[in-house]
Amino acid sequence: MRTAFWRILPALYLIALPPMTTARAADARPVHPNIVVVFTDDQGYGDLGCYGARGFQTPNIDRLAAEGMRFSDWYVAQPVCSSSRTALLTGCYPNRLGIVGALGPKARHGIHDAETTLAEVCRSQGYRTAMYGKWHLGHHPQFLPTRHGFDEYYGLPYSNDMWPLHPTSGRDFPPLPLIEGVQTIALNPDQRQLTTAYTERAVSFIERNQDHPFFLYVAHSMPHVPLHVSDKFQGKSERGLFGDVISEIDWSVGQIVDTLAKHGLDRRTLVIFTCDNGPWLLYGDHAGSAAPLREGKASVWEGGVRVPCIMRFPGQIAAGAVCHEPLMTIDLLPTIARLVGATPPSRPIDGLDIWPILSGQPGAHSPHEALYFYWLNDLHALRSGRWKLHFPHRYPHLQLAGGGGKPGRYEQLDSGLELYDLETDVGETKNVADEHPDVVARLKSLAETAREDLGDGLTKRQGKNLREPGRL
Ligand code: MG
Repeated sequence: MRTAFWRILPALYLIALPPMTTARAADARPVHPNIVVVFTDDQGYGDLGCYGARGFQTPNIDRLAAEGMRFSDWYVAQPVCSSSRTALLTGCYPNRLGIVGALGPKARHGIHDAETTLAEVCRSQGYRTAMYGKWHLGHHPQFLPTRHGFDEYYGLPYSNDMWPLHPTSGRDFPPLPLIEGVQTIALNPDQRQLTTAYTERAVSFIERNQDHPFFLYVAHSMPHVPLHVSDKFQGKSERGLFGDVISEIDWSVGQIVDTLAKHGLDRRTLVIFTCDNGPWLLYGDHAGSAAPLREGKASVWEGGVRVPCIMRFPGQIAAGAVCHEPLMTIDLLPTIARLVGATPPSRPIDGLDIWPILSGQPGAHSPHEALYFYWLNDLHALRSGRWKLHFPHRYPHLQLAGGGGKPGRYEQLDSGLELYDLETDVGETKNVADEHPDVVARLKSLAETAREDLGDGLTKRQGKNLREPGRL
């Protein structure tokens, strides 16, 4: 699964990919660069100014894109919270580690001690580490961030809608804890203050560690429903509450970037902005947009798994670059390991080092022969180069949009064996499987490799290389 694909595929195939815009950046690379990851929740592909958003503006995030690299084909491993965060923090497909779906307050498992997180990678090189925001890799003390490489933690252990005030399922949930370290410091906190509170802590952490290498992970609870915004942004955007919430996240990014600049840390800091999955379309006006992509959260159509991603590292990543290579959040861990001078985790991971692409090396391409899209433990689709193959599977499609914070209704639809050319059809509108039987055969054979390795519920396959999550 991790073979360099340029050794296998015809050169013509690579030429077919759109070129990456580059203007080489050429400074000597700092030895221990700071790493900042901002991760939002349920923000769609079309929910940033630099990705075509309408009705609100994101000047601070757009500026990051203008000063760094914007990714048009960036993916999460699965279109749902806990799965996606497992991939980000471990560099593994989440089903490999036994963490899929969205862990709720009744979950009795979480990330296993033996797995290596991004925070542990950085800490192995003497970094100071902090996380503010939504964790979602296990809420029991042994699974919390401070037990998995973070010096500091403040935030919600799972989704902000898993609380008694849920509009339809409140009875299913105990009070929502706000946690500092491993202590619960409030129940059902005022969510209007969350974005500001995470931001203030992030700024303070940078201030306190300006002379020491650090890894900062800010995982906003927003814009996952229930949407909440502070007075600073209430009623400010044409797009209503959703736009206000995005405006506050943009402000937060501005605060972090300004603090880096104030302390002269710009050229020593890699800043990454991305999101955990596509918009939760069920919530209508309280959901984002995946335009021009098909579907949203909880489906492996592009709108569920393709998300905005921007990276800025002045002097290392060329300003104004746009990357069209298919890449995934699993690639961040090995790439950051290289940047901070750490050895990769001892257990096998799925992500690959993409620094050659980020640094604009001529001829650098995605190191993945294919990217696999599982929903829980079922292989629904894969992408290889310009092609995406869906296997017959069921997926949620919006039947009735919700409104005002209340959910609408999904219907369940079935896809067939369908092939799409994402280079000419990003919206996955025209199934071209019949025209390209050779491509279908090649992608099917790649899928077999994944099934052998990771299993597949749809074809009743048991994976050979699955690992256990941590359990109580
Ligand atoms: Mg999410």
